[in-house]
Amino acid sequence: MKKHGRNRREFLGLTGFGVAGLASGSFLGATVSAEAQNSDADPRHADLVVFNAKVYTVDRRMPKAEAFAVKGGRFVCVGDAVEAKAFIGKGTRTFDAKQMTIVPGFIDCHNHAPGNTLLYEVIVGNPYEVEFVTIASIIDKLRARAQKTPAGFWVDGYFYDDTKVKERRQLNVYDLDQVSREHPVVVHHRGGHTSYYNSKAFELAGIDKNTPNPMGGTYDHDENGEFNGRVTDRARAVFDKVGKRETFSPEQNEQRDRDGLAYISKQFVRYGLTSVHHEGGDLFALQQVRARGELLHRVSFETAGEILEAMIKNGICTGFGDEWIRFGATLEHAADGSFSERTMALSTPYAGTNPPYSGNITDTQEGLNTWAERVQRAGIQPNCHANGDVAIDMVLTAYERAQKLVPRPDVRPKITHCTLVNDDLLRRIKALNVVPAAFTTYAYYNADKFHFYGEERMKHCMAFGSFLDAGIHAAAGSDFSPGPFAPLMGIQGMMTRNGWNGETWGANQRISVDEALRVNTLNGAYNSHEEAIKGSITPGKLADFVVLAEDPYSVDPQKIKDIEIVLTATGGSTVYQK
Ligand SMILES: [Zn+2]
Repeated sequence: MKKHGRNRREFLGLTGFGVAGLASGSFLGATVSAEAQNSDADPRHADLVVFNAKVYTVDRRMPKAEAFAVKGGRFVCVGDAVEAKAFIGKGTRTFDAKQMTIVPGFIDCHNHAPGNTLLYEVIVGNPYEVEFVTIASIIDKLRARAQKTPAGFWVDGYFYDDTKVKERRQLNVYDLDQVSREHPVVVHHRGGHTSYYNSKAFELAGIDKNTPNPMGGTYDHDENGEFNGRVTDRARAVFDKVGKRETFSPEQNEQRDRDGLAYISKQFVRYGLTSVHHEGGDLFALQQVRARGELLHRVSFETAGEILEAMIKNGICTGFGDEWIRFGATLEHAADGSFSERTMALSTPYAGTNPPYSGNITDTQEGLNTWAERVQRAGIQPNCHANGDVAIDMVLTAYERAQKLVPRPDVRPKITHCTLVNDDLLRRIKALNVVPAAFTTYAYYNADKFHFYGEERMKHCMAFGSFLDAGIHAAAGSDFSPGPFAPLMGIQGMMTRNGWNGETWGANQRISVDEALRVNTLNGAYNSHEEAIKGSITPGKLADFVVLAEDPYSVDPQKIKDIEIVLTATGGSTVYQK
């Protein structure tokens, strides 16, 4: 960078207002932070004043503004230029937005944040956008990895999408046998509920074509009764116990986790996300990344296993932490299979299946009841993954029971996905103030899969219209890696219900720009009990915002996903600039 005569930080300082935070070295530098950006001790003087903007605040008391002032990482004034400019003092940076649009930072309430996968693994599809790949390209990439991998060790591929393949057919065991017969080979569907294995993997797992399906999963066969390579949900567990994998020292693992988190944080802010609910991950690495000034977005940390057990044992409740890293709900406790991979639990079978297949239930009612009660008792916000109507019914039964046995105010039990609903489920969701985190980018990205469900079901799937009409605080949950996380792609899909392929599904669920913005900002804050500190451009709240090159209220709704993100700020500090 030096050879250009100017480093990145100086460059930003010259072109934007990033220096508010950068003055204390926050941009990808050694130490954050928004907390330390007070350049001028005079309480009347702001760190940053933005004016000449079209600000959509997502605050019903004042939906539009043209300027705001930021001090100590928070909005101190939102209004017109005269009001905001009154906060300009000696050390104040100013930013003329030249009539660009500014909205609150976007919030994604369900994300697996697989940073180290993106950095270190074989990626066989496009994680971020609609792109078709060939099966030959998948085989080539895996073969290249196999050539560098000792025999007997696993070769893994990630981000496969079965409907984004140029050949328009499923990947199969014969394709993967071309990668290697010495290595177990697996390709993971980006949806996370199905995987495709080669013959070596089946052999090591001791599965033959007569092995019965276990509870909650299947080994799929072709018309001749042979394995086709596809294995769903819990049937994959046996493969995890066989074969060898590269091992890393604790230091190497730490470094990989740190690098992965820092990497994905940059990707989030590139798309305008300033808060993301993480499904698990390395809490230690997360704190290290923050300490190094490389955490550019805020994290609601959703966990299970050892950390959840430690929380329950030691009395750590939802909400513990601070505005950068906070314990949120539990990690999604799975009640059924996947929407995109067609394994979610339906009350009527999937069309054309014989014997009739209604999806996978992955826990019992008793299991859900025990789990929900235990979590609720510990003061932790429960969060279940439920896609199909059957699974959502079971989860609601467990939540209703827990609230009856252990009444607590304002629990906001969370249902991740909450995909296929009906009037009775909506009534129960509203009655218990359940917060759904529903798929956002799917309406655009996954339209090629909706024919598996049909229009009648799609009228009740990703039901943002029904949720909002019923007064339910529905939020956005991209579920990355299963869906891309770009909030603007999500907003376009919610507004149009048009897919990349031009198809329209469930148009009755369309919502307005206002509503779609709210789902992706303020409702996200509500989902983690943080609506008092973020989710809108309101005095007193954290100064998380996004500058857009065009106005989503006036561009063609089919082009919203293409609006350029000009700048993303977290706590008033520039964390991304085009
Ligand atoms: Zn998930």
